[in-house]
Amino acid sequence: MVSIANSSLNTRTHYDVAIIGAGMSGLAAGIRLAHFGKAVCIFERHNAVGGLNGFYSIAGRKYDVGLHAMTNFVRPGVKGTPLTKLLRQLRIEREEFALCEQRQSRVAFGPRGETSLRFTNDFAVLEQEVAQRFPAEADGFRRLVAAVRTFDDVSLDAKPVSARSIVREHLRDPLLEDMLFCPLMYYGSATEQDMEFGQFVIMFKALFLEGFARPFEGVRQVLRVLLDKYRAAGGERRMKCGVQRISRRADGVNVLRLDSGEEITAAHVISSIGAPETERLMANEVGREQAAPAATPGRLSFVETISVLKPQPADLGWGDDTIIFFNDSPRFDYARPGDPVDPRSGVICIPNNFEYGSGKTLSEGLVRVTCLANYDYWAGLNEETYRAEKQRWYRTVQASAQRFLPPLTAPTAFDRAVVATDMFTPRTITKFTGHLQGAIYGAPVKQRQGRTALPNVYLCGTDQGFLGIVGAMLSGISMANYHILQKG
Ligand SMILES: Cc1cc2nc3c(=O)[nH]c(=O)nc-3n(C[C@H](O)[C@H](O)[C@H](O)COP(=O)(O)OP(=O)(O)OC[C@H]3O[C@@H](n4cnc5c(N)ncnc54)[C@H](O)[C@@H]3O)c2cc1C
Repeated sequence: MVSIANSSLNTRTHYDVAIIGAGMSGLAAGIRLAHFGKAVCIFERHNAVGGLNGFYSIAGRKYDVGLHAMTNFVRPGVKGTPLTKLLRQLRIEREEFALCEQRQSRVAFGPRGETSLRFTNDFAVLEQEVAQRFPAEADGFRRLVAAVRTFDDVSLDAKPVSARSIVREHLRDPLLEDMLFCPLMYYGSATEQDMEFGQFVIMFKALFLEGFARPFEGVRQVLRVLLDKYRAAGGERRMKCGVQRISRRADGVNVLRLDSGEEITAAHVISSIGAPETERLMANEVGREQAAPAATPGRLSFVETISVLKPQPADLGWGDDTIIFFNDSPRFDYARPGDPVDPRSGVICIPNNFEYGSGKTLSEGLVRVTCLANYDYWAGLNEETYRAEKQRWYRTVQASAQRFLPPLTAPTAFDRAVVATDMFTPRTITKFTGHLQGAIYGAPVKQRQGRTALPNVYLCGTDQGFLGIVGAMLSGISMANYHILQKG
């Protein structure tokens, strides 16, 4: 039963479901619930949707915040995968996302990427590369892939097991082991050095067995589709309207206190802002209700440099690779660095190098480089030092990354090509998404059933445990289905 305080939109005071956060998971949960006639409203603290996968403008240029690539790409006709499931559940035609496939990606290890494994959206390419570079491991790799394919990664009751220990049952060469872990960790591990096997399987399928794609217009295309579906289904959204506190009335109804001081009520709340962040909102209630494990914020955060180039990357000889995962150290060290940034490993993404179709190219060149970074360092700087440090580390990160790209014809060719740069740090992530410690992949321990200390408050998104853009949307869908729609 919905009480309406005012007949105009977005002024109800009670909803069936209040969703906190208009990122990918919150939007997907909202669409699903609105389709089934629930009175639903999404509350978002910022003035833009997308969260970790939004976009922003500087000097008239639009930059994507997160999107390197949409993972989990499969071609039309392949059934039963995360992408097809989410399209069906959100009633989206696959043409609406207008996804264009990657050209090729690489894992490049060694001081200049001497050992390299190529992969594309055709898994046979990676199988061949492993067989060629690591012939003694070919059988073990096949057994590992069989174990990945048969593992039930969507189970909400799976017990945590070390992925390194399972991978070592099949592979003996630590170099190959690290080369497989590097992309999976960079694109979705909230834990240092090792992953939970269920997360490893999700990411292995998302990156290697399925693949990468991107809409020509980047994340804006995806967000536009989601917002249109949500609006058309009757969902409401309140922007610049953060939630400060959740409490529970004696009759079980949740009361949300908003940044404006206003209070609204909801029978159910789905929070996409993270487990520790949601616990903070409920701090006054925890202890009165059933115990839920206290969530610890994650430690892993990143810097990302963005270089806008006048020429196309192909003009610099960088036209082949869509994404390169690099590492120059004897062992891949996925951990919060002691230094401000760890430039020894990282991810290079060249958004121009997707197959956009004949004659279609992005108007400018783009090179993004992501490296691990130390939140405490960046959060503690004064404004002036912060700006200077961004410039210093921009240069260090570029120099490190360029070792893994084809050599330039002239050493200054890149600097001459750059027309604009930007860089975000762990501090930027916390500022714009509220994630504690700038932890992009959230808390190390995931709450697969999405439960919290309050019975009608659930988690979706990063801390429920399905990661990436597709994973986040599926998480929103699963939690809406599991906690609300299946229970009537
Ligand atoms: C640099 C970077 C690169 C990435 N690259 C890729 C990629 O290439 N491919 C891929 O698949 N994934 C990528 N990801 C991961 C992907 O972006 C995330 O997994 C996904 O977007 C998470 O969505 P979410 O809905 O769970 O959370 P979020 O996007 O964090 O959404 C949470 C929302 O809640 C809002 N909020 C927070 N607190 C409050 C409050 N109290 N009240 C109201 N609103 C609040 C925030 O403003 C935010 O909009 C990347 C992420 C980053 C940061």
